[in-house]
Amino acid sequence: MSVTFRLDNRFARELPEMAIPFTGDAAPAPRVLVLNEPLATELGLDPAWLRSDEGVQLLLGRSVPEGATPVAQAYSGHQFGGFSPRLGDGRALLLGELTAADGSLRDLHLKGSGRTPFSRGGDGLAAVGPMLREYVISQAMHALGIPTTRSLAVVATGRQVQRETLLPGAVLARVASSHLRVGSFQYARATGDVELLRRLADHAINRHHASAAQAERPYLALFEAVAAAQAALLARWMLIGFVHGVMNTDNMTISGETIDYGPCAFVDAYDPATVYSSIDHGGRYAFGNQPGIAEWNLARLAETLLPLIDDDQDKAVELAVESLKGFAAQYQNAWIVGMQAKLGLPEGLDDVLVAELIAELLGLLQTHRVDYTAFFRSLSGAARGDAEPVQRLFPEPALSDEWLSRWRGLNPQASLMDTVNPVYIPRNHLVEEALSAATSGDLAPFAQLLEAVAAPYDERAGLERYAEAAPADFGAYTTFCGT
Ligand code: AMP
Ligand code: MG
Repeated sequence: MSVTFRLDNRFARELPEMAIPFTGDAAPAPRVLVLNEPLATELGLDPAWLRSDEGVQLLLGRSVPEGATPVAQAYSGHQFGGFSPRLGDGRALLLGELTAADGSLRDLHLKGSGRTPFSRGGDGLAAVGPMLREYVISQAMHALGIPTTRSLAVVATGRQVQRETLLPGAVLARVASSHLRVGSFQYARATGDVELLRRLADHAINRHHASAAQAERPYLALFEAVAAAQAALLARWMLIGFVHGVMNTDNMTISGETIDYGPCAFVDAYDPATVYSSIDHGGRYAFGNQPGIAEWNLARLAETLLPLIDDDQDKAVELAVESLKGFAAQYQNAWIVGMQAKLGLPEGLDDVLVAELIAELLGLLQTHRVDYTAFFRSLSGAARGDAEPVQRLFPEPALSDEWLSRWRGLNPQASLMDTVNPVYIPRNHLVEEALSAATSGDLAPFAQLLEAVAAPYDERAGLERYAEAAPADFGAYTTFCGT
């Protein structure tokens, strides 16, 4: 077997000031735990080769095809509101860019590959559990139709990693349309080198938002394109009940893909105050805060771009502020359209009536701690005439009657609803079950969960427990950063 793919070094070449050439650590006993064969094939990578000794060395960042330059990327970031000028890939490497079948570039990137010049106090490593967690949740997000980085493989290293206890170590290989972050722009801006900032912005336009190049003000158009992509993304998160958990500016992409699955989780009961992350004491990244935080992060991006937007800084600020206003409107519109689809409502209804119906429903779900995903999926049954499964989700069936009869009066379309309301999401109790089994060596529950969430809208016999709400004794769920 020989290497037949090309790995470009475009980021390293175009932005050397933000790229430190580096290689991954050796692994004492590497073993491929999971490999995304369809994705590998899509990217022109031979799955059998990836499983070979040579392929595994690539997945550990030890050896790359000629022409590639693995690098640790530099970036800054606002973490929980406080600015860190130098974060960067402390336990990750960009191996290079693959060319996908459609001609677009995709970053091949590793997480948990060892210490780099950006590691600060960290060990540069990752444990099997959190890497499998990113693998399954990003697979689920992709299957749900939500823009996301993709997971290619998890390789167990055979080395122990010290956390609260000793855990088996692993490296995740992931693929993204790029790893450019809001924090990348903050880094370039903080250097004071406007030409570097312009090169970064041109690189981003080229890779993600090519039409901005033709605009009268290309860098303002870049900003607007990022804001539009994030508005669409945030609406998808909110409609599906996804809590990212750590929306620092270094965890927000320029492409509009979801990135860095650390303490993320899906809501069980609908509640905007839901926080899972053990370190989010103030609830900054609570479920309901996410659109506002995205807007805040975008304001930080706009600040970095000011020198490129106009030579007159007052004028630049004025233009950026005006553009940022578009975010809230785009988000709100995408969310309402999505909510109408979830409810199977036809177009052309009175906006005020629809908004009231939605607000009342969310109030009911919140008050009665109704499982969000189960509610919407069961609702198509009610549109077909069987309201009993929906009513059963409430502490008293009659609590939903008045709302249901008003909604039914609007003639909802059941078949549409089943294409947007999933049966299977990676439920917190199932993720925990799968990861703790995998950490002790049993990958079967992980494989089953992966199978369920890979086709989230397609109800299948034998997968009933993957559709059920968490058992009552599961209790308050806490997640920990994927370190
Ligand atoms: P994250 O919270 O995973 O997005 O990471 C935030 C920053 O901390 C990034 O600069 C990471 O590279 C760095 N980091 C996280 N975990 C580790 C680790 N175990 N070793 C070194 N750096 C880390
Ligand atoms: Mg991160």
